[in-house]
Amino acid sequence: MTTESPAPSTMLKGSCLCGQVSYSLTQKPSQFYFCHCQQCQKVTGSSFAANIVGPVDSIRWLSGENLLTHFDHPSRAFSKTFCSLCGSGVPHINKSKTSLVIPAGSLDQAPAIEPTANLFISESPAWLSIGLSANKFTSYADEKSSDDEK
Ligand SMILES: [Zn+2]
Ligand SMILES: [Zn+2]
Repeated sequence: MTTESPAPSTMLKGSCLCGQVSYSLTQKPSQFYFCHCQQCQKVTGSSFAANIVGPVDSIRWLSGENLLTHFDHPSRAFSKTFCSLCGSGVPHINKSKTSLVIPAGSLDQAPAIEPTANLFISESPAWLSIGLSANKFTSYADEKSSDDEK
């Protein structure tokens, strides 16, 4: 854990779904991309990963560090850190230890950076582009009121 503490107002915060793991970023991230590779599909259970990249020493765990589980792919340059209670992906240092990879959906605030690239688009499943043009609803498709289930 770092002892440096920049102005709190500049820190992005994030957390897992169950709320036990939380973190802040002490430096601005540098890149934001979507990765459509098959490993990212497996690890997210969805069609792509939305990843933000920042300096390795920019992570500060605020709670739940003891609940973190880390996975390194045995043969590929691929890693994942997740909350062992709820399975949510949280920031991890990549296998080559060159950068911090922050799952964008784990952030509690909107980052000041926008996605600039779609990686491994050749591995994207056909159902992603079909699904993105499907009918859109503000809540569940068959709900009369959008307020009931949330
Ligand atoms: Zn959790
Ligand atoms: Zn990927």
